[in-house]
Amino acid sequence: MSAVANSPLFDSVQSFLSSPKQLLIDGRWVSAKSGKNFDVFDPATDEVVAQVAEGDAADIDLAVTAARKAFDSGPWSKMTPSQRGQLIWKVGELIEQNADELAQLETLDNGKPFNVAKAADVALAADMFRYMAGWATKIEGDTLSLGVPYAPDADFHAFTMREPIGVVGQIIPWNFPLLMAAWKLAPALATGCTVVLKPAEQTPLSALRLGELLLEAGIPAGVVNIVPGFGETAGAAIASHDLIDKVAFTGSTEVGKIIIKAAAGNLKKVTLELGGKSPNVIYDDADIDMAIAGAADAIFFNQGQVCSAGSRLYVQKGIYDEVVAGVSEIANNLKVGSGFDPATQMGPLVSREQHERVSGYLRAGLAEGAQASAGGAPLDRPGYFVQPTVLKDASVDMSVVREEIFGPVVAAMPFSDDGDLVSQANDSAYGLASGIWTKDISKAHRFAKAVKAGTVWINCYNIFDASLPFGGYKQSGWGREMGHAALENYLQTKSVVIKL
Ligand code: NAD
Repeated sequence: MSAVANSPLFDSVQSFLSSPKQLLIDGRWVSAKSGKNFDVFDPATDEVVAQVAEGDAADIDLAVTAARKAFDSGPWSKMTPSQRGQLIWKVGELIEQNADELAQLETLDNGKPFNVAKAADVALAADMFRYMAGWATKIEGDTLSLGVPYAPDADFHAFTMREPIGVVGQIIPWNFPLLMAAWKLAPALATGCTVVLKPAEQTPLSALRLGELLLEAGIPAGVVNIVPGFGETAGAAIASHDLIDKVAFTGSTEVGKIIIKAAAGNLKKVTLELGGKSPNVIYDDADIDMAIAGAADAIFFNQGQVCSAGSRLYVQKGIYDEVVAGVSEIANNLKVGSGFDPATQMGPLVSREQHERVSGYLRAGLAEGAQASAGGAPLDRPGYFVQPTVLKDASVDMSVVREEIFGPVVAAMPFSDDGDLVSQANDSAYGLASGIWTKDISKAHRFAKAVKAGTVWINCYNIFDASLPFGGYKQSGWGREMGHAALENYLQTKSVVIKL
């Protein structure tokens, strides 16, 4: 654990890491039933920074039992929406009060620059709880006027009730560890559900610290249970558990399909936020400097480990060379290094596995005929660093254009006219996000209508807000996160009919 001793960590983070990291089940911190722990690595140094209890099916079972009890008969089920809302709001406040510490944990665990973790991940996570706190008191049904053809003389009063779905299993990824926990937990709590959350095995630390804050805020025992562990064991146990009513998953499309099959056992409801290969389009009438900076940010933000990353860059023919040169210049000048260095603009990838995966795509792209106009290789230094990369002369048959790389690698391609562009942009199994840069408002609106993607950013990219629904078309997922749309993931509708 020398990485901790030598790194510039706050005392509070040092002290958090110095105690054994356990599972949160029924309001208490406990070891895994198996007694096993797993190592957590600092991606910038490849050194172990913590050991975390490794939950598996037995621990998930205990967590589900606690969540079931809290939902069916515990204090959560008896709380008023207003009381629930106040507690959820308090969680947002505590996140903000502990922003530095949480941001350091994200940097240590995920590798992202501290300033980014604090300004984006932590701030958005706090916002998410505050936004959802307001919804706790605004979940309403409808009253309906019935005209039943086979009971023409009868008079009915009918209404709908919105009820929490019950016990929810939530499985989250490593790219925004705290924020993904917030996206999942806040709407589930607002609707009155109880939760078993499994953080990604690469990045469990901030979720465990969040667990402490949830208890500090007064969220009752059993309402949120946090069980770190591996996908094939703890994750699979969530997806197949008979007493879980719904599973919410963020991660790869491949695992999303496994979740659907496992959930079929008790037909639990499923929402999925999966991969992407999002088109980012620059027309020749755009503000070119702004578009170049935006295109670079769209792919290099968070080391490219963003499901909505602008990884397919389509540039109108006449400005293609200028844009490729501009994005490449930004890539070449990005300061890559430890997230703890205030000058760092891009950190390491999250894990050794992800480093190998992205390096493999770089080799494949070059072998398939793409040219690296910036980067193109891993960095020869300790930690999981790769060069920010711009691949030009890319084409639709290449794996770097078709598959999600989840790294700082953009494939640039020219287009000639609108028709050509829309068919290229939509030629993907994914449909998560998209971007367009133009001064022509009609062109932007036409694209927004034609593109098959859950989000369209016009003259901006990667803009997120707690109120803005986010989710995918096609193989990018089912359902929406954030906004009031996210509440639907956690609610059932019950129809009540009274004969008067
Ligand atoms: P993953 O899908 O394997 O992991 C995401 C989460 O699912 C983790 O918590 C993991 O433990 C869990 N999981 C894995 N296998 C499971 C199973 N069989 N049953 C239940 N849960 C399971 O993602 P990864 O391997 O960490 O990354 C691989 C690729 O996934 C990335 O390169 C990227 O393309 C994609 N990804 C997408 C997102 C996103 O936000 N959409 C996030 C992370 C990764």
